[in-house]
Amino acid sequence: MADGKSKSKAEALLRAKRAGAWYADGVNFRCQAPECSACCSGQRGEGYVWLNADEMEAIAKFKGVDFDTFTRKYIRQIDYAFSLIEKPNKDCVFLENGGCSIYEVRPTQCRTYPFWPSIIRAPETWAREAEQCPGIGADTHVPCDEIEAQLENELDGRRRNGVE
Ligand code: SF4
Ligand code: SF4
Repeated sequence: MADGKSKSKAEALLRAKRAGAWYADGVNFRCQAPECSACCSGQRGEGYVWLNADEMEAIAKFKGVDFDTFTRKYIRQIDYAFSLIEKPNKDCVFLENGGCSIYEVRPTQCRTYPFWPSIIRAPETWAREAEQCPGIGADTHVPCDEIEAQLENELDGRRRNGVE
């Protein structure tokens, strides 16, 4: 366990890191669902929705099927990691009528978008993503603390999924 001194040092380092982050003052984002489902659709080509066994279990339960049936029907293995399958048009298999049919139990990757390291790392990558996601730049201010919490969730999710 960290003593008081090293804890305050860690907090000072974190504050310095935040002050230097381009999103230190927060960003604007509000998902436009259900009017938009671009990030779940195949309009950007093939993609992966990585997930771990606990997430598979939760979705299987939500769907009312057993774990083996669920994995046979909805999961593909890519190297040592697992992803949801896609429909022939590259839409996520759970995109139904323009919305997520498993919204309550959607994987971490879906919850943390667009606060992924590859997107939030620079103003340029954030602006580029805005061309695909109309929620970026919308009218809700997301403070730095929340951005970093989402980033941490995403990184933790990737470690658990075996894709980091
Ligand atoms: S692309 Fe952006 S606005 Fe559209 S559903 Fe995804 S997160 Fe929401
Ligand atoms: S699980 Fe739901 S939120 Fe995630 S990509 Fe598929 S439809 Fe979209």
